[in-house]
Amino acid sequence: MPLTPLFGHLETRRRLAKAVRAGTLPQVLLFTGPTGVGKQRLALWLGQLIFCERAGEEPCGSCRACHLVLGLNHADLHWFVPITRPKAGDPDKQVDEAAEALAGVMEERRKQPCYTPADGMASHTIATVRLLQRRASLTSVEGGARVFIIGEADRLVPQESSPEAANATLKLLEEPPPGALYILTTLDPRRVLPTIRSRAAPIRLNRLSDDEVRGFLRQHTEPRWSPEKIEQRVALAAGSIGQTLSEGEESGKAYRSAEQLLAAVVEGPGPALERALGQAAYSARGEFTAMLDALADTLGEAARGTMGHPVRRAVPQPLLRHASPAPLLRALERVGEAREAAAGNVNPQILLAVLGEELAEVL
Ligand SMILES: [Zn+2]
Repeated sequence: MPLTPLFGHLETRRRLAKAVRAGTLPQVLLFTGPTGVGKQRLALWLGQLIFCERAGEEPCGSCRACHLVLGLNHADLHWFVPITRPKAGDPDKQVDEAAEALAGVMEERRKQPCYTPADGMASHTIATVRLLQRRASLTSVEGGARVFIIGEADRLVPQESSPEAANATLKLLEEPPPGALYILTTLDPRRVLPTIRSRAAPIRLNRLSDDEVRGFLRQHTEPRWSPEKIEQRVALAAGSIGQTLSEGEESGKAYRSAEQLLAAVVEGPGPALERALGQAAYSARGEFTAMLDALADTLGEAARGTMGHPVRRAVPQPLLRHASPAPLLRALERVGEAREAAAGNVNPQILLAVLGEELAEVL
């Protein structure tokens, strides 16, 4: 099944297409923006535009190169997504294992192009970075440009507490081979290693309009959703197609517990907070990190709210009473720290108890 079409981001697409035509596109890009707005899909679109034999403002969609990209079969398009840590002890075998795991993910995406974020424990380990190095050192198969997409780049390395992988990535990004384009994507640029961030040109993607989300759902739900269901989901989506697709599943659960936790936090330290912390028992680390991501997203939305932007997802009202976004940004930093700690060998319950108290202090 070909990739689902890209929805929205028209202005960004125009800017990117202009840069491609003028030959001024930076070689390292960092796409940032909320979950599920199509950051990796836009990266694939850009790859398609670059490879297309008849590209104008948009890729033509019908040439050989376009077909190869849309089928995820283009030999010069390398899409790296977080995967489970390879188990082999030997570094070379680890690289092979990472290659196999990625091939498996691509096979799934060919069958089911709509996907939810990677499991909370999946990451880009040193094996992935070595694989990337290996592929980057080869020449182009089709004789033209090469495009490397690194999805969820915030999951690159630091959890391994090995500077080796980070340094290897930096070397790649510092001197991209001629004709190579690296596109990294992330929810929040502050989560990407600062040394990587400083080498990439940032491109910020906003939430989609309700019409864009509606358009997607009308055309790409299988079996087709009823108009009532579509309207319900559009209202919940807050401009994120990914959100509409995973709502009701794990991500919906993560957002609900994040909202409950924040509602208890704003009441201050006390019984409500203790109850909220006690209720959330996390057996799977993936669930816990998904909740932390939902917490970060909700706080970010509240911060936007305090700056006068419309708030498009459920945010506990008291969070919006702040006259400036400063306390919310401090809270976001605490969540970011907890997110990093969560990747290590820390008990989620203890981590959450500490985080709850810290949030109660700043909010
Ligand atoms: Zn084409």
